Amino acid sequence: TIDPQHMFKVGFLEDVFKIRPMKPVRTRFPPEPNGFLHIGHAKAIAVNFGFAKFHGGSCNLRYDDTNPESEEQVYFDAILEMIQWLGFHPREITYSSDNFDRLYAHAEQLIECGKAYVCHCSDAQIKDQRGGGEGRPRYRCQHAEQTVAHNLTEFRAMRDGKYKPQQAFLRMKQDITDGNPQMWDLAAYRVLETPHFRTGNKWRIYPTYDFTHCLCDSYEGITHSLCTTEFVLSRVSYEWLNHSLGVYEPMQREYGRLSISGTVLSKRKILKLVESGIVRGWNDPRLYTLIGIKRRGVPPGAILEFVNELGVTTTNSVIDIKRFEQAVRKYLERTVPRLMLVLDPVPVVLEDAEGDDSSADLGGLEGTALSIPFNPKDPQVGVHDVKFARTIYIDRADFREEADPSFFRLAPGKSVGLLHVPYPIRAVSYTKDPESGKVTQIRAVLERGVAKKQKTYIQWVPPVETGSRRAEVRVYNPLFKSDNPNDTEGGFLQDINPESEIIYPDALIESGFDEVRRRGPWPEAAGESELGKGGPESVRFQGIRVAYFAQDSDSTDDKIVLNRIVALKEDVGK
Ligand code: ATP
Ligand code: MG
Ligand code: MG
Repeated sequence: TIDPQHMFKVGFLEDVFKIRPMKPVRTRFPPEPNGFLHIGHAKAIAVNFGFAKFHGGSCNLRYDDTNPESEEQVYFDAILEMIQWLGFHPREITYSSDNFDRLYAHAEQLIECGKAYVCHCSDAQIKDQRGGGEGRPRYRCQHAEQTVAHNLTEFRAMRDGKYKPQQAFLRMKQDITDGNPQMWDLAAYRVLETPHFRTGNKWRIYPTYDFTHCLCDSYEGITHSLCTTEFVLSRVSYEWLNHSLGVYEPMQREYGRLSISGTVLSKRKILKLVESGIVRGWNDPRLYTLIGIKRRGVPPGAILEFVNELGVTTTNSVIDIKRFEQAVRKYLERTVPRLMLVLDPVPVVLEDAEGDDSSADLGGLEGTALSIPFNPKDPQVGVHDVKFARTIYIDRADFREEADPSFFRLAPGKSVGLLHVPYPIRAVSYTKDPESGKVTQIRAVLERGVAKKQKTYIQWVPPVETGSRRAEVRVYNPLFKSDNPNDTEGGFLQDINPESEIIYPDALIESGFDEVRRRGPWPEAAGESELGKGGPESVRFQGIRVAYFAQDSDSTDDKIVLNRIVALKEDVGK
């Protein structure tokens, strides 16, 4: 097994610490509260919280809420919930907007030292000043020549509502001769008339990311500011601003983003899937939002292990979903109990032996509680009882109407083993529904004289009267047909897999399910056990010979709904 702290010791993050061996390490995870987190954010969370944890430091959650146009309360709440679900605890929860006064004062200070000016140019003019995107010579507009006093008056006028959006903005006076576009007099403040989620109508001007991020890092005493590589060029302006204002200077370093192939992560695209009813919402188990992955039943520990295995470097990586599923499977294999579940049940009525009196009690087995281990490989997790019965249910797929030498399960005249039962059964006859052509019942004998090991053992479930439960099972396959839904002609909506969700409405699960549910998160479920509060999805198990499952949040006391987390093997069970 992997040392969960492995990734924080090696490579990129080790270098980051070597460059600045400053303790206590303070990091921050700075999401914009404008959407739900996705699998890529799990990497950012693991990197920031994990790096701090490894060095005995701490990490803040900072809501980067400087764009009032797209923020909503549900995102704030969901973000914190996901961080906690992954087993991390912010030292402080901060909001960029808490610093609006302080940021404003620093903006005036920047003007006073001649390093910012109020500009009234249009987008087209600014583009031209920056070389028109064609490498033509760069130049500054006349606004850059205004006096400090004029800039202060103008900036205060912006603040006081004299200008409409686009009519004025504050620019930093950086270095337009620098080859780095992030030094070409970036915007620091713009006019926006939207009320802010937290500050209401107090402000009509809002600081930009480039102005806010480095200063908030500085205010919070961040030692190592870790972000993704699209900010490499921004490092210079990040350092420039803190340095120009003479404030404490954190160090920014950049790591590679995590992308997953075969799915879409962009908010706009997921919104389309939600609005068109293709998925059950932002937390649909087929999505790679963290709330979706959670609902599907993926344990938080498996996500961390996956991120860990990938490691942290400065390159962006596109990972096949199959690799994620493989990591989840490996994790579940070690950590969840085994139960017998039948997706598509067919009753098998047992007789004691051919021609026997059917009132015989199956050699004492009828009504007997068989003691079954939750995990044969791990006796410590204990056993549970399943009552044997005269009628049991097996999966339709485990019976064939005609025997076939390559089919080692049940067929007329053929025997098969039943998991955890001392004797095999042999099918004698069956009945069919004339209309649907479906097998409705199988009659079989319990071969009490046969002790030899069978080639195949199948799962079975006794009737609900003995404590078994009926369940609706939702089996998920990839939401898209191709690995690159974004490249599909006509757009990703043309690439939807019609079989992405297959429902088995009448599945049966053995009574051990109730005990698994009662016990709550299985002891090995990292993260959750630490938190001690698993949601419905923390009821997970391996349906022997079928797949890994978790309880869906649609479950009620009367109705169990299960999600397939992953198949037992790659590409099985489509
Ligand atoms: P998206 O547009 O996908 O939401 P973002 O960069 O706008 O991404 P933020 O909410 O601003 O997301 O991100 C918070 C933090 O998470 C940032 O530091 C960002 O760099 C990081 N992050 C976002 N996506 C990924 C990813 N795919 N891999 C690694 N880190 C990511
Ligand atoms: Mg962003
Ligand atoms: Mg974002």
